[in-house]
Amino acid sequence: MNKNKSAIRNPQSEIAVIGSGFLGLTLALRYAEQGARVTVYESAPEIGGLASAWHLNEAIVWDRHYHVTLLSDSFTRKIVEEIGLADEFEWVETKTGFYTDGKLVSMSNTLEFLRFPPLGLVSKFRLGGTIFYAARVNDWKSLEKISVEDWLTRLSGRKTFDKMWRPLLMAKLGEAYRETSAAFIWATIQRMYAARKSGLKKEMFGYVRGGYARVLERFAAHLKEKGVRFRLHSRVERIEQENGKIYVSTAQNAAHYHAEVKSEAETEFHEVDVRPVGVESYRDEFDTAILTCPSNVAAHLCPQLTAAEKRRLEDIRYQGIVCASVLMKKSLSEFYVTNITDETPFTGIIEMSALVDKREFGGRALVYLPKYVAPDDELFDRTDEEIEELFLTGLEKMYPHFRRADVEAFKISRVHRVFPLPVLNYSEKVPKVETSIDGVYILNSAQITNGTLNVNETIQLAEKFFEREFRK
Ligand SMILES: Cc1cc2nc3c(=O)[nH]c(=O)nc-3n(C[C@H](O)[C@H](O)[C@H](O)COP(=O)(O)OP(=O)(O)OC[C@H]3O[C@@H](n4cnc5c(N)ncnc54)[C@H](O)[C@@H]3O)c2cc1C
Repeated sequence: MNKNKSAIRNPQSEIAVIGSGFLGLTLALRYAEQGARVTVYESAPEIGGLASAWHLNEAIVWDRHYHVTLLSDSFTRKIVEEIGLADEFEWVETKTGFYTDGKLVSMSNTLEFLRFPPLGLVSKFRLGGTIFYAARVNDWKSLEKISVEDWLTRLSGRKTFDKMWRPLLMAKLGEAYRETSAAFIWATIQRMYAARKSGLKKEMFGYVRGGYARVLERFAAHLKEKGVRFRLHSRVERIEQENGKIYVSTAQNAAHYHAEVKSEAETEFHEVDVRPVGVESYRDEFDTAILTCPSNVAAHLCPQLTAAEKRRLEDIRYQGIVCASVLMKKSLSEFYVTNITDETPFTGIIEMSALVDKREFGGRALVYLPKYVAPDDELFDRTDEEIEELFLTGLEKMYPHFRRADVEAFKISRVHRVFPLPVLNYSEKVPKVETSIDGVYILNSAQITNGTLNVNETIQLAEKFFEREFRK
């Protein structure tokens, strides 16, 4: 047995985890529990990755991207329980709206579905039948071979596809829906039905009081108690193997970034290892490194990977997002999610305050306006002011009662790589977790083959990796 391959099973080993999203944090927890000395590297000034929190204004901290937990999210709930916050969950029944043909309608129950204006009775019947059928299909692999458009058109009919499915697919995938397999919509429907499948009567949406800021604060404290070290604000630039050891090198600490950390109060709940400006970058020695960053980043960080490995990693195509958080005096609607089938500057509306107690937001409403786009979309180059103007103009057109003067904060998150596109035959393209570099593993959302991207799926990925590699 090769030295580093067995190191991951050695309770005494030194392990580097690259990325402090839920994947990295869960791995850190499991290895630290076995006695390993774990160091987590994070390029951002705070932990949490996509699930991190930020200040909406001086007083209000909430998730940078909208997050809910489902009752059926057993992996997420277990971690929340382990860190002592299980009693802090609030479970709420929410309503769903549809903005279609210039009108906002409720689609929160069967009766409303039957009344839904844009589709005739036959189309509705076929749409309902598609969802019912998809929830019962088990062989997701065969769905990877069919495009989502062909599959849904066959089941629901062309009219329903154009009127309903296409806008919903475009909302998450943009034009890339044309290359996406039917396994994508299958996984989405499966998640919707997970609660009912597990014997729970209905699906409820939940959040932890205080949001992910609170979960992450507690998670970090729990990990520190177990001896986990954090190197925040430390972008890993290179991972190499030399004489049986793994060396992790970080970028030099940039002066402007340091100033940014000081001015943002966002880091206050973490013990930040901020290096003085100008200090040399780290080069630390480990037995094992587990990378949880996007595949193309991982390919770039590990020059010793083979050309074939790098190609496979770089071939994974990602979808990005521009997501605005809008804090306002008044609510837009009673719907947690409003699906949009008309042309608007954003691809959905998530009114967090329709789920979360408004007291969390000082009595205000919190609305997210996401726009899923390709990583090279021109929207990423627009200024904050341009995006704000575009999105607020969109809201004005949709909601006659909406007033710009009611907007108290407008913050924009831009992420170039959120999730890999589930293209045709995706599971055959997935890169291996174990690499040709002894002691280096690459584990990220590209390994999710039959699910959607969510914290539960992410934690499950970490738990399964740990079970497989540590207990092997
Ligand atoms: C808009 C949006 C809505 C969502 N809604 C929900 C929801 O309702 N419910 C739900 O359960 N999930 C939701 N999710 C998904 C959830 O956020 C993800 O499943 C989860 O956060 C992924 O965790 P991760 O650790 O795999 O990746 P990430 O969170 O992306 O973590 C990777 C980390 O690696 C760091 N990194 C990258 N490169 C380097 C480097 N070179 N050096 C050091 N660090 C590096 C990054 O900064 C990042 O912190 C949503 C996500 C988004 C974007």
